[in-house]
Amino acid sequence: MTEPTRFDPRQVTLQANELSGRIIAITGATGGIGRALAIDCARRGAQVILIARNVKKLEGLFDEIISLQTHAGDPVAEPVLAPLDLEKAVAGDYDAIASAIEERWGRLDGLVHCAAQLGHLSAIEHQDVPTWVKLLHVNVTAMFALTQVLLPLLRASPDASIVCTSSSVGRRGRAYWGGYAVSKFALEGFVQTLADELGLTTVRVNSLNPGKTRTTMRRQAYPSEDVNSLPLPETIVPAFVALLGPQSKGINGGAFDAQ
Ligand code: NDP
Repeated sequence: MTEPTRFDPRQVTLQANELSGRIIAITGATGGIGRALAIDCARRGAQVILIARNVKKLEGLFDEIISLQTHAGDPVAEPVLAPLDLEKAVAGDYDAIASAIEERWGRLDGLVHCAAQLGHLSAIEHQDVPTWVKLLHVNVTAMFALTQVLLPLLRASPDASIVCTSSSVGRRGRAYWGGYAVSKFALEGFVQTLADELGLTTVRVNSLNPGKTRTTMRRQAYPSEDVNSLPLPETIVPAFVALLGPQSKGINGGAFDAQ
């Protein structure tokens, strides 16, 4: 495993065409961070595959992206929409996404897992089992299933990067964060295990903690917080781009922060 200690995605100076020609799939693409990331990736020259459960929101994002130009002034690549509900998806749904990418490009250069649920904040003794099971399923099992089905396509890329979106409560436990915190600890374990298996191949995997960011999930977790005090998603997505682009080639198994 390449030692990621010297790399800091916050310090990378990104080029306008940092992701030129890269094919990048993003889950939770209609959420606060996923949406801002999808737009930035497209503007930096990537072909984005937008994975999300809400077709109306996906179509809105599609319209927004095709109305933009890249940072270099060219038309953006038309995004591809991949509706997928991670709570309900079965093997065939994952296979269909992999087959569509295989058929069109034969490879995948980036995969970002942004989709997640928060559940209800409460003490462990009050966490209900169905919510716990759902959180672990959406935040961990679905992430694993999608990664697994896309790995052959990532291996077909000369430089592929997987980024798993973590949280500070996935690195140090905190009272009342229940199944969400446990799911993010599992995500960190998934990254370390997969990174060790990938070793020095052309596929790398890292975790990235966005830090507090102005999104629906943050509002759900801290309803009385002044949202104006929080950074916008647009300000934290460059760290994701740094982990997806050529400047982080060889960085594998790291646990990074976006702020
Ligand atoms: P949002 O709530 O804005 O986005 C979450 C996304 O997950 C949404 O797009 C949502 O879909 C999607 N999602 C939830 N359930 C499913 C499902 N069953 N199937 C498919 N998609 C689903 O939150 P953020 O943008 O803040 O979260 C992005 C990531 O960042 C998450 O992994 C979160 O844990 C992490 N994070 C965020 C922090 C913050 O301060 N905002 C801090 C630390 C970590 P839909 O659009 O349909 O609702």
